[in-house]
Formats: sequence, structure tokens, C-alpha cells
Amino acid sequence: MDRQRLITQLDIALPSRLQQIYPTWRNAERYTIYVKRDDLIHPVISGNKWRKLSHTLELMANTENATLGSFGGGYSNHLHALSFCCWQLDWPLTVFVRGDYANRETSMLLDIQRWGTRVVYLTKKDYQMRSSQPFCAMLSNRYALSHLIPEGGSHQDCFSGMAALMNEFEHKIDYLLLPVASSGTLAGMAVTSGNVSNLVGIGVLKGANYLEQQTRQLIDLHPVLTDYSILHNYHFGGYAKSPENIRSFCQHTSQMLGIPIEPVYSGKTFYALKDLIERAAFPIDSTLCVLHTGGLQGSRDSSKS
Ligand SMILES: *Cc1c(COP(=O)(O)O)cnc(C)c1O
Repeated sequence: MDRQRLITQLDIALPSRLQQIYPTWRNAERYTIYVKRDDLIHPVISGNKWRKLSHTLELMANTENATLGSFGGGYSNHLHALSFCCWQLDWPLTVFVRGDYANRETSMLLDIQRWGTRVVYLTKKDYQMRSSQPFCAMLSNRYALSHLIPEGGSHQDCFSGMAALMNEFEHKIDYLLLPVASSGTLAGMAVTSGNVSNLVGIGVLKGANYLEQQTRQLIDLHPVLTDYSILHNYHFGGYAKSPENIRSFCQHTSQMLGIPIEPVYSGKTFYALKDLIERAAFPIDSTLCVLHTGGLQGSRDSSKS
């Protein structure tokens, strides 16, 4: 089965729409601004997670009796998207979740169990070993898994899906802003050449060096064909932190643009866009774009850990 058949079978709407926006922010009239609506490619499969998973799913479709496993937190968009795909394709899936949610299952965990995913809770200490080869071999063996996808779906297998996204830009974009967590999205776009001149990653996690290093590690020996940088001053306290100011920004901006945004990923990215525009950080007349990676399901439960 090739990727196009999977896209048809899962009913994914590609290419995603490039929508021009007209925010009322100071200086906004100096720029042409777009949003790449990857959030709209599917009602359940969160935008960049399809891009990142497409190649692996294609491989699995051609493997007999594939049994998949993966890692994530209790609100993970990656696990949510992967579980939905496996349910639709009738493939078994086991996921390893950071921390014990047995007595406080999140909407995400309830969904994926409804879709037939086996959930295994790991202690936070065990979860730290998620990238260790012997640990993964032990889990694969114990749970009879043929393939273990790393956290966030970020590995080099995700690059071809990110290249497909890059190739959807038909006109020149000077600066593309996108959220960065496990870095696969940014790394995959950075190793692709296309109509985007600069990738501006918005770190949603605290810890500057860690994100840079993680991105470089993923890129590894691939040549960087599109310049990228990561900004570290828009994380609002860290990953799942959503202080009142970012929540009200999301509400206000969603309303102004008619585009749903949430505080963990897209909200921080739009906030960075607004701040950089107001400070005239981009050359006048630049074409700017935000990659809307989706992720609304993750903010269904208000309290996070
Ligand atoms: C996972 C995710 C990201 C981060 O992508 P990485 O490749 O992990 O950096 C951004 N936005 C949304 C909505 C996500 O679910």
C-alpha cells in the first residue's frame, strides 16, 4: 500500500490550505501574512502528526502482522493521532505513557482506549529511558512489538512527510514560524529545500540548549537546506503551562482570525508572530507564515501535569 492509498483510506485532506490573515496588530500592514492550515487536514489526526507518521505507517502497511508501540505523555497529540490511525487500519497498538493516569484518565487516554489501544503506564523514572536501546528492546520483547516509534514520532522516518509539507508551498515564504517540542517537524523541514527561506522555531519547552541539541541530533549528517533558528522566549513557563495571559491571547486571537488556537503550541506561535511583527523584527514587505500544527484535542482537560 502506498501513501496515497493511506491518505484516501484515512480521509486526509491534502494539500492543506494556505490562508491569508489580516490581524489588527501594530505593523501588521507591513507584511503579507499566511497561516498554513495543517490543523484542517483531518478532524482527528492532528496536522503535523500525520506528516510525521506518514512514512512509518506506509512502511507498516507493507509489513505483515505489524505490531506498533510508541511513547508519550497523558495529553499527547502524537499518541492520539497514531491510535486513531491504527484503529482505522485495524492494527494493534501499545503505548507507553509517562506517569500513572489510571485514576485520572485524560480525554486523550479515554479516546485511545476506546480505539482499542493498549495503554501501559511507566513511572517517570522508567520513562526517562525511552530512548535507550536496551530498554526499548526489553519493551518490544515483553509486549511483542515489531516496531517502536519514538516519542512525538520524531525520528528520521518523519523527514519524508515533512518534505511533502514543504513541497506544498508554491510561492516564496520569507519566514515560516512553527512550534517546536520534540523537533522532528523543524528538523524534517530544515533538511528539505523549497520555497521557504527561513524556519523560525518557537520553543514551547523550557531549556534552550536542549532543543538546539535535539534538533541537531535528529538532523545528524543530513545537509541543512533551509536555514532555521529557534526562539526560546515564548514558552510561557514550559510545555503544558498555560498562564492566564496566553489563554486570553488565544481566545482573543481565535476570535479575531476565525482560526482555533490552543495555548500549548499554536497559541505560543501566534503570540511570537504578533510580538515579532510589533517589534518590526522582520524586514518590511516580508511574507510571513505560521504553520498551524493542530493539536486542539490536547487542551480538552484544563489541568495539566
Ligand atoms: C507535537 C506537536 C508539535 C511539536 O512538533 P515536534 O515535531 O515534536 O517539534 C507542534 N504542534 C502540535 C499541535 C503538536 O501536536
